[in-house]
Amino acid sequence: MNESDKCIFCKIITREIPAEIVYEDGDFLAFLDIHPQSPGHTQIIPKKHYRWVWDMPAEEIGKYFKVAQKIALAERKAFDTEWILSKTVGDEVPHAHIWVFPNDKVEGDKMNFKENAKKIINSL
Ligand SMILES: [Zn+2]
Repeated sequence: MNESDKCIFCKIITREIPAEIVYEDGDFLAFLDIHPQSPGHTQIIPKKHYRWVWDMPAEEIGKYFKVAQKIALAERKAFDTEWILSKTVGDEVPHAHIWVFPNDKVEGDKMNFKENAKKIINSL
């Protein structure tokens, strides 16, 4: 059994496990975290299974961070704040992931990010 066969993020990519997907392209997927640090907490993952962000080929990293930037800019707009945080490495799930989330002191989901994330992301 490969590590990716039992990986819950790989199962989100194949839709075996449901998730609120807010962004997807050929290489990356972003979805709302089910245990959010704050409203808007989004996980960005590569579609290919890598254990750590740092295992990705260098040429993928730039594309990956552009997606993270897109999500962060969408959250800035939705929550009307510059206080968007990120965490690049965690071992919660053994699949490379970047968290992007508003600081928990930020008040108000002014554009209803949860409902409108796709629209906000696509408008950038
Ligand atoms: Zn995986």
